[in-house]
Amino acid sequence: MNRTPQDTADIAALPGIKESDLRPCHFCGQPLGIFFYRIKLEQAVVDPKAAQRQVGLGMMLGSAALASVMGPNDDIAKIVSTSRHLVCADCAGTLPIIAAHGEDG
Ligand SMILES: [Zn+2]
Repeated sequence: MNRTPQDTADIAALPGIKESDLRPCHFCGQPLGIFFYRIKLEQAVVDPKAAQRQVGLGMMLGSAALASVMGPNDDIAKIVSTSRHLVCADCAGTLPIIAAHGEDG
């Protein structure tokens, strides 16, 4: 079912995107249409030292689960890069990760 902006009861309260930030669809280059997606991609990498500390603590305590609770709760991975892309509804329908998002509600 396609929704319209009027279906959104309190559209003014939703987070916004400025006109100057709009671009054609990242995949097909066409205008976005009424409903579109903004995808934020973050590439992450495991911090080997943090992982090693966590594994070591697990070995000392005899339990990875206990180490998870008792440990320093350091970041085990770091964000290497972030990018945002605008995607039209037609292209979004071809992306499994967006289809899965729609199934959640
Ligand atoms: Zn597209």
